[in-house]
Amino acid sequence: SLDVRDVHLAFGPNRVLRGVDLAVPRGATACVIGPSGSGKSTLLRTINRLIEPDRGDVLLDGRSVLGDDPDALRQRVGMVFQQFNLFPHMSVLRNVTLALRRLRKLGADEAETVARAQLELVGLAGKANSRPAQLSGGQQQRVAIARALALRPEVMLFDEATSALDPELVKGVLGVMADLSAAGMTMVVVTHEMGFARQVADTVAFMDRGVVLEAGPPEAIFEQAEHPRLRRFLDQVL
Ligand code: ATP
Ligand code: MG
Repeated sequence: SLDVRDVHLAFGPNRVLRGVDLAVPRGATACVIGPSGSGKSTLLRTINRLIEPDRGDVLLDGRSVLGDDPDALRQRVGMVFQQFNLFPHMSVLRNVTLALRRLRKLGADEAETVARAQLELVGLAGKANSRPAQLSGGQQQRVAIARALALRPEVMLFDEATSALDPELVKGVLGVMADLSAAGMTMVVVTHEMGFARQVADTVAFMDRGVVLEAGPPEAIFEQAEHPRLRRFLDQVL
């Protein structure tokens, strides 16, 4: 399980996270929704320690991750970004094998075997030798997902993974994410795709001004929202 407990973070005078709590049981998918600037990306970044919180704790299976070596943690917690962050000068295959070799210390042959198997699972076996620029945005995002999954993480974080994609490419990437959720991955998904949140999430958390204002099963959030701010948000996005 992943537990975010009372996490606070300020950038100078800007208090971006003001006591965030989020509990994601093992195998569950939490979708995080909320207005721009509410702290969603910052929350994900504190979970995999791209930023250190000022206060509060992040626990994996009951153990704080804040003392861990960040590289070790990033094998346990994979992250996929809106801008795929692939290395443009490397083949798809090398993009996936690089972290396997550097972080998991696999030899070249073993890394390639793992990477090819993972690319196959996201439907890109035929693109191993292409450069990222030769792929569609949806294919590039699936490479980024394969790269994260190849490390066998316990938790996957997605930050608006489909927001930069052309509409016709969104479905394929959401499909890969839904399959992963169904296969039992523990996931935190920041998304504007309310249909995905409704269908795939076990929990939907609404963030507003640095706190999770309301969280619950999708039916409760989408049909019986309590907070007026959540209702107003849903009126705008649904
Ligand atoms: P969006 O939906 O637009 O992606 P968000 O909910 O992900 O928004 P964040 O990116 O977490 O919001 O940003 C929350 C606040 O933190 C914003 O006011 C932003 O300007 C500020 N912020 C984020 N990163 C930094 C940083 N590295 N330095 C200073 N301020 C930052
Ligand atoms: Mg964001």
